Amino acid sequence: AKYVYTFAEGNKDMKDLLGGKGANLAEMTNLGLPVPPGFTITTEACRHYLDHGSMPDGLDEQIETHLVRLEKEMGRGLGRPDDPLLVSVRSGARFSMPGMMETVLNIGLNDESVLGLAERSGDERFAWDSYRRLIQMFGKTVQDIDGDLFEEAIEEAKKAKGVTDDLHLDTDDLRRLVDRFKEIVADRTGGPFPTDPREQMIRAVRAVFESWNAPRAALYRRQERIPADLGTAVNICSMVFGNLGMDSGTGVAFTRDPATGRTGVYGDYLQNAQGEDVVAGVRNTVPLTDLERIDAHSHEELMGIMNTLENHYRDLCDIEFTIERGKLWMLQTRVGKRTAAAAFRIADQLVEQGMITLDEAVQRVTGDQLAQLMFPRFDEEATSGDDVHPLGRGMNASPGAAVGKAVFDSYTAVKWSRSGERVILCRRETNPDDLEGMIAAEGILTSRGGKTSHAAVVARGMGKTCVCGAEELDIDTKNRRMTAPGGEVVEEGDVISIDGTSGLVYLGEVPVVDSPVVRYFEGEIDPASDQADDLVRSVDRMMHYVDAARRMYVRANADTPEDAARARRMGAQGIGLCRTEHMFLGDRRPLVERLILADTPEEQRESLSALLPLQREDFGGILEAMDGLPVTVRLLDPPLHEFLPDITELSVRVAVAEARGEDHENDLRVLQAVHRLHEQNPMLGLRGVRLGLVVPGLFTMQVRAIAEAAVDRIRAGGRPRPEIMIPLVGTVQELEIIKDDAQRVLREVGEEAGLELELPVGTMIELPRAALTAGQIAENAEFFSFGTNDLTQTVWGFSRDDVEASFFSAYLEKGVFGVSPFESLDVDGVGRLVRIAAEEGRAARPDIKLGVCGEHGGDPASVHFFHKVGLDYVSCSPFRVPVARLEAGRAAG
Ligand code: ADP
Ligand code: MG
Ligand code: MG
Repeated sequence: AKYVYTFAEGNKDMKDLLGGKGANLAEMTNLGLPVPPGFTITTEACRHYLDHGSMPDGLDEQIETHLVRLEKEMGRGLGRPDDPLLVSVRSGARFSMPGMMETVLNIGLNDESVLGLAERSGDERFAWDSYRRLIQMFGKTVQDIDGDLFEEAIEEAKKAKGVTDDLHLDTDDLRRLVDRFKEIVADRTGGPFPTDPREQMIRAVRAVFESWNAPRAALYRRQERIPADLGTAVNICSMVFGNLGMDSGTGVAFTRDPATGRTGVYGDYLQNAQGEDVVAGVRNTVPLTDLERIDAHSHEELMGIMNTLENHYRDLCDIEFTIERGKLWMLQTRVGKRTAAAAFRIADQLVEQGMITLDEAVQRVTGDQLAQLMFPRFDEEATSGDDVHPLGRGMNASPGAAVGKAVFDSYTAVKWSRSGERVILCRRETNPDDLEGMIAAEGILTSRGGKTSHAAVVARGMGKTCVCGAEELDIDTKNRRMTAPGGEVVEEGDVISIDGTSGLVYLGEVPVVDSPVVRYFEGEIDPASDQADDLVRSVDRMMHYVDAARRMYVRANADTPEDAARARRMGAQGIGLCRTEHMFLGDRRPLVERLILADTPEEQRESLSALLPLQREDFGGILEAMDGLPVTVRLLDPPLHEFLPDITELSVRVAVAEARGEDHENDLRVLQAVHRLHEQNPMLGLRGVRLGLVVPGLFTMQVRAIAEAAVDRIRAGGRPRPEIMIPLVGTVQELEIIKDDAQRVLREVGEEAGLELELPVGTMIELPRAALTAGQIAENAEFFSFGTNDLTQTVWGFSRDDVEASFFSAYLEKGVFGVSPFESLDVDGVGRLVRIAAEEGRAARPDIKLGVCGEHGGDPASVHFFHKVGLDYVSCSPFRVPVARLEAGRAAG
């Protein structure tokens, strides 16, 4: 097999084999840009090495052949004493994993070649600086020596000399530092620093292979959902030197601003420096524009190259470059990462410039990015002022902007929030005991743990703002205070603001503003007016495009006229799930209680007829808000006991009344009923269609209310389109009984009104048995709506409320799944049932309508799946409607 490619042999589409860095180095080489010559060892070689613990047959020979060829081209031998060729050994996987894997520079230096390098370059200091860097990087990366030991040695050398800048260490200092570094290596490894250049190179290659499996790389992959078995490529690249004096240097740049997406070049430059000095912050960089003053010629060439790259990649590129004595070299490029706002702006600009089509543009923005733009945010003016500065930064675990008083334990969070305070729960890390506090808090801040930590997982599940792993904040829960690196102390009760989108934490109350994108969706900002900025305009253009492109309809889950109206403004084309449970709470509770406790059919009828007009009014408002669009009303679903008083409270009341000899007959009766109806697993108990079957008249009352509301709307000149949905069906027999009742009621109401009422009756598919017998069920259902929340619970045997708070973070940490199946549909398991039910439902009833109304309806990856299996619509919460529209359009593209 061919395991090694020279840069000239590859291209940008070979990322799987050559990794991102290798593929793009090849692309730049073939574009004729100044790339130092070199070659790439494939990811296939890496996978073999990781699987077998040894290099594949022929790899060593291929590397040697390419090295010899490189030596010839450069006219120098690797590490040759009089005129050494030096190379870097660089990792580079398919997906960029910034800072996760390793690179070693200056391979080929030893006690002899360092003299040759000094001689040839005429710069002794440079030669010794390069040598100490090699030992440092090789020691750390290949020999696993604690990097701090080298850093400390440098600090000592600087202190001994009384300087603070490493540029002030002279040749002798660096020579001594090299000796000191060699001692560290000998001390830590029990052997001398390897002096053979080829051995140095091969060992570095193996170390890069192995760095694929380093724990931090594995963790990063899990968090970013990068497959674990891809392996990394290794690039061997001849060295160019940015540390050859002040006419040399190194820098990074972007062809546009990756933060805002605005046009114009951005970057940093550092004179007399090598490689990672720029990012490592060893010294202060200067903005790229200063390069024009420092080296006008290189600056001009660089601007030209960046322009070439943008036109070639047709996207924002980021680059690494080095200038060696006035000569510019390109060391890396890739399509650059960017913020959500930048993604929209850039895609739109590129369309404007005629570089890409709108179709390509919508493929370059995601629903997640759109969702980010829709969260309320801290007022930019307030956070960019001179007087506000962040206390610290953590990971952006769950987006949003939250303000509240800092509390350091769950108990206080609950207590204070009950008395009306807004609080931010600050913990080192959270565990299931913190759950109540997390619920009570506006936001959650932790100093430990990543995006799969308990805090992050639970917060995302609750849609609550969370910043996690803010390691620089010292959270001292015992003394109820937190100390920032700048020395500021936050005591319990001090107000802080946390930004779950940026990960920043501020002292004090930062004002929160509505996102302009939401105001646009709400119709408050006209995209054509000058109130709208370019972000709103780009979102508007994309939304028009995806609405025309998508096949699936997007509906919303809404159960009040206000929500329905908002959903409609957000672009919903109907309601996919109108829950009716909240219509039975509040001041209607006594009516429901009476219904459940009724001793005689008369009593029961009485409560039902009291509920009927109320329900009719509920539905009327919603049908009016959604006039002309379908409204799927789900008949009552939750367990009955949820409508009854708390068992403990009631017991106490009965006991007290008894002791006082007061009349308590009614309470006693209720108590008995509550006992009778109490369930161990209410979510698997008497609910949904089961309730409809055992409480006579309940579902028919609801159907009548819906039908009468429709009649009222028709009489008022409206176009109501209600649909009746029966929850938790497991077998067609359940459905048949309820459906017959429903149709009888519909006929009755129709006759009473003298109208032809044809309302579709359908069912939810949320139990595995329903999915597996979908063919039979479809005979009696005009539509299916997949309730993927319950379906996920029942397919996995998970009780969501229990599992998310207890062991899901451990599961994510261990990689059992990459993302919670409640966040993104489990395509292999739950998705398979959806597919089966969709196919068999369609086979039995070709014109059956198929939709989904679980939270997955607003999840980007899940929307793509639903498109693929041919569903007619997705339904999600009003705020997710734009996200679903965008993703449904992208899926169809
Ligand atoms: P990362 O993926 O962490 O950016 P790189 O392989 O890009 O690692 O290398 C780290 C640094 O060393 C970068 O700044 C890069 O530009 C620089 N570098 C890599 N190879 C060379 C080389 N052959 N000559 C000069 N600098 C190099
Ligand atoms: Mg790099
Ligand atoms: Mg359900």
